[in-house]
Amino acid sequence: MIGVFFLRYNEVMKKPSKFERHESRLATTDDHGHRVYLYPEDVKGFWRHRRTIFFWFLIILYLVLPWTRVGGKQTILLDIAHREFTFFGYTFYGHDAPLLIFIFLGIPLFFGFVTSIWGRVWCGWGCPQTVFIDAIYRNIELWTEGKARAREALDKAPWNAVKIARKGSKWILFLLVSMHIGHSFVGYFVGTRELYDITMAPPTEHWGVFVATWIATGIALFDFGWFREQFCIIACPYGRFQSVMMDDHSMIVTYDEQRGEPRRSPEVSHENEGDCINCYHCVKVCPTGIDIRRGTQMECIACTNCIDACDEIMDKVGKPKGLIRYDSELGKKGIKVKKLGVRSIIYLTLLTVIFSLFVYKLKHADELRVTMLRGSKTTFSMIKSGDTEMVLNHFNVTIDANAGSKDGILFRIKDSELASKIELKTPHIPWMLKKGHNKTQLFFRFPKELLSDGSRNITLLVLTGENLEKSILVKEQEVPLAGPLQ
Ligand code: SF4
Ligand code: SF4
Repeated sequence: MIGVFFLRYNEVMKKPSKFERHESRLATTDDHGHRVYLYPEDVKGFWRHRRTIFFWFLIILYLVLPWTRVGGKQTILLDIAHREFTFFGYTFYGHDAPLLIFIFLGIPLFFGFVTSIWGRVWCGWGCPQTVFIDAIYRNIELWTEGKARAREALDKAPWNAVKIARKGSKWILFLLVSMHIGHSFVGYFVGTRELYDITMAPPTEHWGVFVATWIATGIALFDFGWFREQFCIIACPYGRFQSVMMDDHSMIVTYDEQRGEPRRSPEVSHENEGDCINCYHCVKVCPTGIDIRRGTQMECIACTNCIDACDEIMDKVGKPKGLIRYDSELGKKGIKVKKLGVRSIIYLTLLTVIFSLFVYKLKHADELRVTMLRGSKTTFSMIKSGDTEMVLNHFNVTIDANAGSKDGILFRIKDSELASKIELKTPHIPWMLKKGHNKTQLFFRFPKELLSDGSRNITLLVLTGENLEKSILVKEQEVPLAGPLQ
């Protein structure tokens, strides 16, 4: 078996391999800058096996999560129309937007921290692009068009019934999967139960959702079915930033040139050659088409395919595995690497600060969020009370609560002198809150002489308790009263 392998290998060595990569241009472009379509070979091995399990875990999570509920709410629901964003039972409302600052700061810091330790682990293990393409789309391609070289031959072959059948079945399956991905994606925004009803209804009743679903489907089909590595190479901003997030301590997929070089070639004697037998197996399996032996490259998505491919070859030639492996630049030189380098510590510190501030703000924002909007088209109305003309101000009050309250909500005007002149009415006393949106109305009735210049701000106390005597202040709310000019 090994003899046959070497015979074939020596034949190949006589001419330059078609997998030899150009020195100064991307593997996915030709002399004219046109795209060169890649046909990465299938690979099996230690990392491939673990990644496949992890990919399916993520896919099931993605598909199932919007159908699950925590505390009566969809587990993750990004309801943009109503400005309500629910995560595992906790709802953020529109006026929680300042909290988003922590999220926007936290995400890049988190990626910075992870990248500084484990390199592009996100790209190889967690990015939807990699997960869906590797776990589903490439398998569909394998079932319908065969292995890499068969796919390449099929693409070059003239159109005939077999090619139409193979290509047609591939794209139909791609479309079905993309529709599923697209619908699940939209389900995170409109709610899966609502999406089910919308899907059953004619599109004319829900044009917005209908179009959004097909846009999501189209993007998945285009990107996962055809665009693929081009997205990582051309469009992904993370790929551009990763090098500044890493240092010599970061784990990367890397080739051990000290062990591998000089690689086998007709110019190198057998005694002097390194462990790399120059079989290009690592290049053939690479989904971005690069040769990892040229060092860390922006196009490398750390998918580990080349590790498994090379380990298989090392097994066949009876050499130790790990010529390509997860390691750091320092680790390759035999230097013991600290788990947390300076860069990782900085990221971790900043991340801890941001997270602590987020939790602090969340805890304090948790109590009650009160919104008051005028309830009538006019800012005030005039009513008669006996012989006195009174001004009426009407407000719609919304309180967003993340938990129902045992005690009710009460309102009181802070200034006791004003409180004696302003009659405050609300339909519910006390107002028992339930989890989520709570709506009620407040009416302020007062003699028109109270507002000498037609407006006045008063402070309303929002209290919780059975009655005003035994209540606790929750919030002070400014209320702009309006009336006629004197
Ligand atoms: S070089 Fe290796 S780890 Fe990087 S993308 Fe190619 S196969 Fe994956
Ligand atoms: S798979 Fe291993 S032995 Fe073959 S070319 Fe790549 S590094 Fe060299």
